[in-house]
Amino acid sequence: MGAGGLESGAGSRPRSGQTIAAIATPFGTAGIGVIRISGPEALAVASRVLTCKSGADVADLASHTVHLGDVAAGAAEVVDEALITVFSAPHSYTGEDVVEISCHGGTVVLRRVLEAALQAGARMAEPGEFTKRAFLNGKLDLAQAEAVNDLIRARTDAAQRVALRQLEGRLSARVRDLTSRLTGMLARIEASIDFPDDVPEPSRAELAGTARSALSEVNDLLASAERGRVYREGARMVIAGRPNVGKSSLLNALLRESRAIVTPVPGTTRDVIEETINVLGVPIVAADTAGLRETHDEVERIGVERAEVSLETADLVLYVVDLAEGITEEDQHLLKRLLPRPAIVVLNKSDLADQLDPSDVVRRLLPEVPVVRISALTGYGLADLESGIADLLTGGAVSAESPTVSNLRHKLSLEVAARCLANALETLAGIEALDLTSGDLMAARAALGEITGETATEDILDRIFSEFCVGK
Ligand code: GDP
Repeated sequence: MGAGGLESGAGSRPRSGQTIAAIATPFGTAGIGVIRISGPEALAVASRVLTCKSGADVADLASHTVHLGDVAAGAAEVVDEALITVFSAPHSYTGEDVVEISCHGGTVVLRRVLEAALQAGARMAEPGEFTKRAFLNGKLDLAQAEAVNDLIRARTDAAQRVALRQLEGRLSARVRDLTSRLTGMLARIEASIDFPDDVPEPSRAELAGTARSALSEVNDLLASAERGRVYREGARMVIAGRPNVGKSSLLNALLRESRAIVTPVPGTTRDVIEETINVLGVPIVAADTAGLRETHDEVERIGVERAEVSLETADLVLYVVDLAEGITEEDQHLLKRLLPRPAIVVLNKSDLADQLDPSDVVRRLLPEVPVVRISALTGYGLADLESGIADLLTGGAVSAESPTVSNLRHKLSLEVAARCLANALETLAGIEALDLTSGDLMAARAALGEITGETATEDILDRIFSEFCVGK
């Protein structure tokens, strides 16, 4: 989309004339650190801060070239030797003149170079301001700008792929295609209302066909949202079961490092231990809960209560059973309490009981729930368990082609669009005047436009970009 599509108007434009600067690399020491400067005065600011070794004037440097220079602070004291890269408008990330100064990555060096840029006329950038400018200048639409943040924060390869696909514009293209079909319908309806003598009323059946196919595409996108949320935010998985069945051992096996307490004394995992793990590309916050059971010990009771709370909010429960003991009455009681949550029953300690197979008992209790046999001790069955977990949370692999909705904001807009399209279909089926339908179609179009930013308000923009880091 072009920046011209933003309806919130001039208030959202970059404050004209202002050149912004920020450190674009993380705080700390590193081989290099980058100061980014963007705005109409970017080259002028850089020329006050850096002198090219070649003797060239920074203000005259050609776009997409790199030069070596000395960075000076204040009264010509050289702070560092640095590379300067120039990107002239509009061929830059923000669409404005951009200069990047790559200096040595020390906190003092970076701070002093930034201060020099601020003294030379730049203002400190706000969080996400570079990307906000890219959006306002039409370099990215809103969904793509959000994908930049998701890409930076991606915790697994699969999350990174979902974000990159959104950055490439696949979701935006799908949404824009839908929007333009709605615009086409609206144009036909409105022409017939405005010029009833010249333009015949469009066929309701035909309009309904278009609305129905749009609704089904919106629903397809919504269907990807659950999987997308999991990739973006991580799924919540709870490891539950009676004390001493091997919950901590399983979490450790999944973590491949021993951070949860593993002990043969029942009831010592008293609190909820949370770890972020990567299961076949799916980021998961796994909680190892205290054994769920009746207890009179005060501390343990609190643990059990917390375990119950984390069960309530879980996307997936791994219910661990000790194969050596079989499925006890307490297990049966607890398993029934799991319903109707997505769960996997994990038959642990298979190394101790390779003849026993109580999966029939589980199947009788919970016919839909998969059962996996493992040994947390030897690692047997863990690969099967991991693929079972990933399948349940994502409904299979991320498709390479279709966009995945990973953002709650996009999901909410799609839900509004779906409701409006369903309303439009209802009015089209009835005898109401067509302008009722046109109200619903307009509302659906506006909801979709919020995703790409065509109809996003200043509030929405502020909220989105404030989540970014400074320098991005
Ligand atoms: P939790 O109370 O459910 O968290 O159970 P733990 O993970 O603390 O394990 C209890 C005991 O069972 C420990 O002594 C573990 O070493 C042992 N254990 C856990 N998993 C296995 C397994 O697969 N095989 C065997 N033989 N022992 C296991």
